[in-house]
Amino acid sequence: MTHIKKICLLAVTGLLAGFVITSCSNQEIFSNTNPSVVPKDLSDVFKWRMTKDASPKREAITIAEDWRSLTPDSSHYAVWVGHATYLINTGDVTLLTDPIFSKRASPVGWAGPERLIPPAMTLSQLPPIDAVVVSHNHYDHLDLPSLIALQKANPDMVFLMPQGDKALLESKGLNNVSEFRWWETQKVNETTFTFTPVQHWSGRGITGRNTSLWGGWFLTGPDLSIYHAGDTGYSKDFLTTKARLGKPDVAFIPIGAYKPRWFMRNQHADPAEAVQIALDLETKKAFGMHWGTFILTDENISEPPVMLAEELVKRDLEPRFFTAPKPGEVLTLKPKF
Ligand code: ZN
Ligand code: ZN
Repeated sequence: MTHIKKICLLAVTGLLAGFVITSCSNQEIFSNTNPSVVPKDLSDVFKWRMTKDASPKREAITIAEDWRSLTPDSSHYAVWVGHATYLINTGDVTLLTDPIFSKRASPVGWAGPERLIPPAMTLSQLPPIDAVVVSHNHYDHLDLPSLIALQKANPDMVFLMPQGDKALLESKGLNNVSEFRWWETQKVNETTFTFTPVQHWSGRGITGRNTSLWGGWFLTGPDLSIYHAGDTGYSKDFLTTKARLGKPDVAFIPIGAYKPRWFMRNQHADPAEAVQIALDLETKKAFGMHWGTFILTDENISEPPVMLAEELVKRDLEPRFFTAPKPGEVLTLKPKF
């Protein structure tokens, strides 16, 4: 859902002459499928900062080296590189989701959230990449230095971006960029990529809030259907996605960045809600992400997988239905789990 907002820039020129030029442009503003869910404002950010106890302790989760067993002939696998970055091979395409290999999730290299762990694989250790999908423009999901390095190594690679982000990539010299509204599709090889609604927001600075879209990616390929939720709160969007596109074989779902709940609930699912997202999608298998890589919120670093396991027990679900893999672990993607 969108509306057009008139954005006016005041260009004060010739102050001595005392005149002001105003230039206005029509700027599209995006909203959630539930339009009452809007980004928190600065007073809420201030309240969070003022009421917050200590920050979580920095700790490094265990990284696996299993990815080293992959060969150019390997197929049907996924590797969690860290945060929302998954390397995925479907047997038809090799892609990266929300690739971030930088030390910080920030517009600058010297401030902002710093990685707790290095990427499980470096950029030079990746196989050839056909496509990159990005869920939204927050710095922990749209990392320009990573995108630039990836296209340098893979000149034919395509970028599938939310509506409103294409110009940013092209301004950095990147090619083969497409942008998508919800439910729009593009084929890469034999796989159809569809951009789907989730509940979140966008913005990379003080201005420009919700001027680009956010969403999840649903891939329908010859052997497998795969869903990547990006960054999301719990909403009815996942039931709609299943109704329109079917049940995915595999779903990658965020399980971190959820405390304090009064602030985060609308934008970040907690592990219990992540399980509900997996159930709403009726996916055969779910894998966690968006934890253990940066400190963005107040929960302890190692809490999300513990809460995830507890939720599965509470609901009498098999532990293997939804797991939180180690970075670097090789996950086998099969049409039937
Ligand atoms: Zn985000
Ligand atoms: Zn995020």
